[in-house]
Amino acid sequence: MSELAQKARNSDQSRDGDVAAPSAADLESARPGSREEPILEVDHLVKHFPIKAGILFDRQIGAVRAVDDVSFTVSRGETLGLVGESGCGKSTLSRSILQLIEPTSGSVRFEGREITGLGSRASRALRPAMQMVFQDPYASLNPRKRVAQIVGDPMRLHGIVSGPETKDAVRELLARVGLNPEHYNRFPHEFSGGQRQRIGIARALSLKPKLIVADEPVSALDVSIQAQIINLLEDLQEEFELTYLFVAHDLGVVRHVADRIAVMYVGKIVELGAAADVYSHPIHPYTQSLLSAVPIPDPHANAGRRQIVLEGDVPSPANPPSACRFHTRCPFATEVCSVEEPLLIDHGGGHFAACHHPLDAEGRPRRGAGTRAAAVA
Ligand code: SF4
Repeated sequence: MSELAQKARNSDQSRDGDVAAPSAADLESARPGSREEPILEVDHLVKHFPIKAGILFDRQIGAVRAVDDVSFTVSRGETLGLVGESGCGKSTLSRSILQLIEPTSGSVRFEGREITGLGSRASRALRPAMQMVFQDPYASLNPRKRVAQIVGDPMRLHGIVSGPETKDAVRELLARVGLNPEHYNRFPHEFSGGQRQRIGIARALSLKPKLIVADEPVSALDVSIQAQIINLLEDLQEEFELTYLFVAHDLGVVRHVADRIAVMYVGKIVELGAAADVYSHPIHPYTQSLLSAVPIPDPHANAGRRQIVLEGDVPSPANPPSACRFHTRCPFATEVCSVEEPLLIDHGGGHFAACHHPLDAEGRPRRGAGTRAAAVA
C-alpha cells in the first residue's frame, strides 16, 4: 500500500473516531495563564442526522454529519465566538450543547457535571442556568402571549418569583434591557425587530442563567441596531456575571465581544484561539478568507487589502470531502490535504488550527506547502 493510500485509510479511520482529536482537557491545558475550572466543557461532540430511504422499511442510507468530533471549553465570564458560514453546523452544535437536540455521541459538562443523557426531570432543573437567545426574535416569541407572560411565566414556573411579584420583576427586567416597562402588556408584533430581540434577552435573563448561548442574535437586525444589542449584551455580561457562547456567521460581528474565537467548517472546528491572535494572525486558510471579507472602517487600509474569494459552495455535510474538508476550496491545498485529515494542533499560546500548511505571519503557507496550481502541476 502506498504511503498516500495508507494516509487515506488513516483519514477514514479518523472519521470514525479512531485517530485521536484533541479533547477538551487537551485544549484547556494548552491555554496560557491559570484559570478556574471551565463552566462548559464540550468533548468529542458528534451530531449526525440519519438519512433514510424506503417505502415499507426505513433504511438508513447515510448521515448528515452536522457536528463531527467537536471539543472546546468556555471559562466562567468568558465569551467564546463561534463563527462559520451558514450550514457549517454552528446552530446544531449550540442546540446539542443545550440538549435541545440529543447528541449522537460525546460529552457536555456544565460546571463539572455531565449533562448528556440526563432525564427530562434533571434537564428541567438545569434549564434555568443555560439559556438561549435566538436568531429570529419574531419567530422565537409566542405571538399570542403578552410580554408580561413571555418574560414572567418562566420566572414564576421555576419559582424565581412568586405570583404577586411577577409584574414588578418583569417591569424591572424590561427597563434593564432598554424597553419601556409600561409596555409589559403589549404583544410581540407591537415592537420593532430590535425591541423584540430585547424581549428575547429579557426572557433569557429572567431565569438568572450562568451561560447564554446567543445564536446569531443580531443577524436578523438592521446594522444600526446590531451595535446596540451587542453593547447591551456586553453590559449585561458584566452586571450578571454571564458566560456567552456567541454564534455568528460574520467575524466582524464577534470582533468586539469575543475573548476567544472558534472557527467552524462543515461540522468541525478548524481554528481556535484568543480573538486578538485569530484576527491578527489567522493560521487556517479558511479563517484568512473569512477575515478578508470583513470591511475595515478605514478607506485607505481597505483599499490595500487583498480579498480572498472562495470558489464554490460549502460542501454538503451529508457527503463531506475526504480528509481536510476545506481542500475543495482551499487556495493552498496539496495532495496530502485530500488524503490525510489534519488534526487541531497548538501553534503556540493556545492558538489551535487544523491545517497541513499553516499560514505564517505574512499570511503565506509555511514551507512544504504549495498552491493549488503548483499541486496540480
Ligand atoms: Fe486544508 Fe490543506 Fe488548505 Fe490546510 S492547506 S486548509 S490542510 S486544504
